[in-house]
Amino acid sequence: EEPAVHPSITRIVCTLLLAAGAVSASGCNTAPPASTVADQPQPTEDQRFEELVAEFMPAFWRQNPSYAIYTGVYDHAAVLEPYDQAARDREAAFYATWNARLGDFDLKKLSAGNRSDLEMIRAMLAQGRWYLETFRAWQWQPSNYNVAGPFEVLLNTEYAPLEQRLRAVSDRLASVPAYYAAAQANVATPSLEHTELAMVQNRGALATFGDPLIAKARASALTDPEKAEFERRTRAAHAAIMGYIAFLEGLRPADGTASDGTDKAVRSFRIGRELYEQKFLLDNNTGFTARSIYERALAEKAWLHDEMAKRATTLWPRYFPEQEPPADRLVMIRTLLDHLSLKHVRKEDWVTTVRAQIPELERFVREKDLLDQDPTRPLKVRETPLYQRGFGALASVDAPGPYDPTRDTYYNVTPLDDFTPGQAESFLREYNDWMLQILNIHEAIPGHYTQLMHANKSKSLVKSVFGDGAMIEGWAVYSERMMLDAGYGGGTDEMWLFWMKWNLRAVCNTILDYAIHTEGMTREQMMDLLLREAFQQEAEASQKWQRATQSSVQMTSYFAGYAAIWQLQQQERARLGDQFSIKAFNNEFLSFGSAPVPVIKALMDEKNGVR
Ligand code: ZN
Ligand code: ZN
Repeated sequence: EEPAVHPSITRIVCTLLLAAGAVSASGCNTAPPASTVADQPQPTEDQRFEELVAEFMPAFWRQNPSYAIYTGVYDHAAVLEPYDQAARDREAAFYATWNARLGDFDLKKLSAGNRSDLEMIRAMLAQGRWYLETFRAWQWQPSNYNVAGPFEVLLNTEYAPLEQRLRAVSDRLASVPAYYAAAQANVATPSLEHTELAMVQNRGALATFGDPLIAKARASALTDPEKAEFERRTRAAHAAIMGYIAFLEGLRPADGTASDGTDKAVRSFRIGRELYEQKFLLDNNTGFTARSIYERALAEKAWLHDEMAKRATTLWPRYFPEQEPPADRLVMIRTLLDHLSLKHVRKEDWVTTVRAQIPELERFVREKDLLDQDPTRPLKVRETPLYQRGFGALASVDAPGPYDPTRDTYYNVTPLDDFTPGQAESFLREYNDWMLQILNIHEAIPGHYTQLMHANKSKSLVKSVFGDGAMIEGWAVYSERMMLDAGYGGGTDEMWLFWMKWNLRAVCNTILDYAIHTEGMTREQMMDLLLREAFQQEAEASQKWQRATQSSVQMTSYFAGYAAIWQLQQQERARLGDQFSIKAFNNEFLSFGSAPVPVIKALMDEKNGVR
C-alpha cells in the first residue's frame, strides 16, 4: 500500500499483476468451437470481437512502445518517440479510431468475458483521451518526462542476446535529444512540485547514461563503428538530460514561492473539485463518486476509532497494570500501539521470517476453506535481485507478464542490510509481529499473489494488460479483513488493533487526497490527521505530503476498491442468507480476472439470475 512496501500502482499494473497462463497472441476468452459447416457461416459476435482484439493489441503496443517494454513486449524496443504535436495527433486519432470500431458490437450477443473486455478497452480509451485533452499533465507536469526506466529494463532483462538489446538501446539513445526538445516545448505553467520532482528524477536518470553503460557496450560483440556510435549517443543523451534539468531550474521562481494557489506564475498542484471528480471516475471505476467515497472514508474513520478504543480499553490493564489509561482515547490507543510495536523480529531475521510465514498463510486459507489455491504455481520467496532494489519496495510480488507466462512468481523481500540501526529499528517497529503478518496477507496470500493466480485462469489478455487498479488493491485490502474475520491471528485484540491501524492508512489516504486537492487542506492539517488520528510516525506522515502534491486519486484506490468489494460481499450475504459461502463468493469474484468491481458485479448478477 505504501511506497516503502511496494511500488506505485503503475508498476503494479505494468509489471506485477499481469496474468500468466496459456495466453496466446490473440488472447481473449475461449472462443466457441469454429463451425465445421462448409458453407462459410457468418462469424459470431464473439469471433468478430476476438479478431478485433487480435488487431487492437499490436496497434496498442505500436502506439505505446515504452509501456510495451514494461509489459514484456519488445517489438518496438528501439523506438523512443518525442511527445510532440504530431505524436499527440496520432494519439488522438488512435482513441477515435478504436472507439468507433468498438462501438460496432451488439453487447447482448457477446460472452460475459468479451463484453467486460470491451468495456475495459473503451474505458481505457476514454481515460487516455481525457488525460490528453482535459487533464493535460503533459503540459504542467514536467515529471512526465524521464527516459531512464525502459532503458533499465532493456539492459537488465535477458529477453534477447546482449548485442541485440544493445542495438535497440543504441537506436533509442539516438532519439533522446529530440525527446527532451519536445518536452521543453510542451512544458507550460508547471506546478512547482512537479518541476522539483522532474529535476530530482532526471538527476537520478543521469546515472543510467554514464561510463558503465559505455563500458558495457565496449565489452560486447558490437562492431567498432557501432561501439563508437553507441558512445557518442550515450554522451548526447546525458547532455540532453542535463539540458532539461537546466531548463527546469530556470522555471523556478527566484524566491522559491510555493505554487499553493498564491503564485500566479505557476500552476497549483491542487487539481480542484471538477477535475478531481472526473479523474476519480476514470481512474477508479468502483461505483462511487469521489465525494461519496470521501464521506464513506470519514464514517469509516469514526467506526475504526470506536472499535480501537473498545479493544484498547480491554488491553490496557494487561500492558499497563500500574497506570490509569489516558483520558483522551486517541492518546490511549497510541500509547498501546507504541508499546506493542516493540515486539518485532530482529533485523537479520527479516527475510527468513517472511519466508516462514508464507506456508502458514497458505495452510490457514486451506484449513478455513476461504478460497481455491493452486499448489502447482507456488510463490517463491527470494531476496530482491540487486537491480530491482532501490525502488523503495521492501516486499513485493514479482509475477510473470502475459507475454512470459511460464516464469515463476516471486515474492521479493529486500534484506535490511543497508539500513542504519536507527532506520532498521524504526522500520521493524512499523512492521512489528502483527503488522508483518498483515503485510504478507496483503502482498501474498490471499492478497495480490492469490488474486493474480485466479486472474491467470480467465486467460484474457485485455484484463491482464489493462487490469483495474482499484480492484487489484481493493482485493488485497479486502483479503486482510476477510482473514481476520475467519479468525486469523487467533482473533486477538492486538491483531485487530493493528489491522485497524493499517486500515486507517488507506482510509486517511482517501480523506487527505480528496481534501488536499479539492478543499485546500494544508500540510499541518494533514500531519495532524496522520499523527493523531492514524497513529503514524513523523517520518511516514511527512512523506505523504510529497506523494499527495505529486499525484491525485491514486491514493484513494485502495479504500475505494475495498469499500466496493466489501459492499458486494455484504449484498451477497444478505441475498443468500444461510446459503452464503465465503469460499464460493471469493472464488466467483476472482474468476472474472482483474476487471473493475462494477463490471464483476454485473457479471455475477447475470450468472446468478439477479436483476
Ligand atoms: Zn497492494
Ligand atoms: Zn526494537
